[in-house]
Amino acid sequence: MASDISALRVRGLTRRYGARTALDALDLDVRPGDLYGFLGPNGAGKTTAIRCILGLIEADAGDVSIYGETDPVRRRAQVGAMVETPAFYQWLSGRMNLELACGWAGFPLADTAAAVQEALARTGLADRADEPVRGYSLGMKQRLGIARALVTRPRLLVLDEPTNGLDPRGMREIRDLLEELVRRDKITVFVSSHLLAEVEAMCTRVGILDAGKLTAEGRVSELLAGSATGGGASALERVAVRVDDPVRARGVLEALEGVEILEADGAGAFQLGLRGTKAAAVNRALVVAEVGVQALVPHEESLEDVYLSVTKKGGAT
Ligand code: ATP
Repeated sequence: MASDISALRVRGLTRRYGARTALDALDLDVRPGDLYGFLGPNGAGKTTAIRCILGLIEADAGDVSIYGETDPVRRRAQVGAMVETPAFYQWLSGRMNLELACGWAGFPLADTAAAVQEALARTGLADRADEPVRGYSLGMKQRLGIARALVTRPRLLVLDEPTNGLDPRGMREIRDLLEELVRRDKITVFVSSHLLAEVEAMCTRVGILDAGKLTAEGRVSELLAGSATGGGASALERVAVRVDDPVRARGVLEALEGVEILEADGAGAFQLGLRGTKAAAVNRALVVAEVGVQALVPHEESLEDVYLSVTKKGGAT
């Protein structure tokens, strides 16, 4: 849905713990309809940012608006959240836990039963809704946490590490669920994660946090193309080449302008960085020098490459 209003807009968000600056003038923009992945190493400030966004802790400076609302109470009414591992009354059923959550949120009593049923159905828990939560698997508990975040029908869902501790099937279920909430139910989702492959596969846009600042933000495809990491015309294009004569090939490659040998295994495999030249020119030069080119493959940049290039080695704790 096209809209000029950001689903979540953060400007200059700063939060210190004593002498430590956990968030350093953070800016973020989540658009309506985004499935936004919020990435960053341990200690980067993701949980602190989420707590400030939700109004669970106060920021030292900065502004947060959610669908245009800046007042903390009205802002909160737009959001459903799951921060860290959700806790439930273990002896009560999933349904009763959700009904209690509606009560605490001041949700209209007359709408509660329908809203609870809807949240249970959306998260695939309708069949088990009347069993005590203590019998739920970890994956079901995470889904119940998402159901609780959804039950008041928010426009924005904020989830902190929702797949933490889940097995691959559980992770896949959460991923499918989030994709469906965005696509079918038109809910905007903001999700923090450490799992790069998962974010790459699932998210429409990504923000990478490092030491309390956003170091890259954009569509996954834009980040991979280098546009958000200072790439553009001067970007280094990486290719892998395999040849039959490594010694002669090295001489040719070293003489070529715009070609940097990043790695060589001595047995004919080279990793090259090209700046302002094309793989075809490398191929031509090698063939002209009578070096047999067995393979020449562009390096597909992954979100992991981008992540490693915009985050420092070894985050804070
Ligand atoms: P992780 O991925 O490990 O959960 P994170 O990105 O969520 O990390 P935060 O938990 O927000 O990072 O922490 C950011 C920084 O603030 C860290 O240096 C952390 O040690 C510090 N910090 C967080 N909470 C507190 C607190 N209650 N008191 C003091 N320092 C804190």
